[in-house]
Amino acid sequence: MKIKFLDLKKQYESIKNEIDSAIFSVLDDTAFIGGKFVTSFEESFSDYLGVKHCIGVASGTDALSIAIESLELPKGSDVIVPANTFIATPEAVTRNGYNVVFCDIDPDNYTLSIDDLEKCVNEKTSAIIAVHLFGHPCKMDSILEITKKYNLKLVEDCAHATGSEYEGMKVGCFGDLAAFSFNPGKNLGAYGDAGAIVTNDSVLAQRCRLISNHGRHDKYNHIIQGRNSRLDGIQAAILSVKLNYLDACVERRIEVADYYLGKLKGISQIILPRREEWAKEAYHLFVIRAEKRDLLQRFLAEKGIETGIHYLVALPKQKAYSYLALNREFLANDFDDKLLSIPIGDQLTDSELKFICDSIKEFYSAA
Ligand SMILES: *Cc1c(COP(=O)(O)O)cnc(C)c1O
Repeated sequence: MKIKFLDLKKQYESIKNEIDSAIFSVLDDTAFIGGKFVTSFEESFSDYLGVKHCIGVASGTDALSIAIESLELPKGSDVIVPANTFIATPEAVTRNGYNVVFCDIDPDNYTLSIDDLEKCVNEKTSAIIAVHLFGHPCKMDSILEITKKYNLKLVEDCAHATGSEYEGMKVGCFGDLAAFSFNPGKNLGAYGDAGAIVTNDSVLAQRCRLISNHGRHDKYNHIIQGRNSRLDGIQAAILSVKLNYLDACVERRIEVADYYLGKLKGISQIILPRREEWAKEAYHLFVIRAEKRDLLQRFLAEKGIETGIHYLVALPKQKAYSYLALNREFLANDFDDKLLSIPIGDQLTDSELKFICDSIKEFYSAA
């Protein structure tokens, strides 16, 4: 049985007619950058999340970077990010000239460890980026308590968590700003690079819009120096179609996760992700910690099952951050030879799920 980690082709085919006609409407209208398809998606997406403003940008990486830039944090200040995330998160800090401080992760849900977070705060700290990693929401109440206590700004990195909820509210509503990625592999994926910033603060919203469009007030007047990071019409039109299917996609992912949590429960060599009662997870990824991870991954590959690793080398150990000379121990460092992402796409069939679970069991019973 061949099981893809992510089957974009199958996903496209299931909504091909709608997608194709959305693309052709943009061609007809030549609304290639910005324009009515972008405005319409921005409105639907902010309604979906329950936030006031949405600014479409060119990628999730840009969304994070522009969000941080818009906060105008004190020069030379520290921004805290989790030690296990994609490198785009700390890049948003360092590319804007701030210092990155890695915070350890919670072993149950892989998001910011609340204990370590407070220890990371010092007089130079100006902001926190909370990453809802794998689609698991961060413990927002505790994080907001810390941002209030120390007067810190908060940006949410929602790249993995479009559709996730914390205490019944969509993630992206809690921070000063939040960044979303619509990379094709994400839960709400475009057909190329795309991203968005959301916020309830109209001053920040306006600043993000200016930064993303050359600081333009109108065609010839530039209020600040900005950059070129805008959402394309074709991507926006595709996203508007796919947004209608997002809730169904999240529900199916939760069903798949339920299945895994039930079937893989008894295996002592793996640690399953914990489900918190305050969280609704969009399950961008289903990540287990597995003994003999590399052998298991190879065994599954031989059976035709594709898996992923998020992430193979924890950020504090990356060469890009060797200049920080971090000599403290991170749980994130210890986990990176155990993490394994098994397929979770909403296109998976029940028989594929059964095959995946049976294969994992077979590996450990033979071992
Ligand atoms: C994908 C991702 C990003 C960046 O998004 P792009 O759209 O690929 O630029 C940022 N943060 C995390 C955690 C991601 O997984």
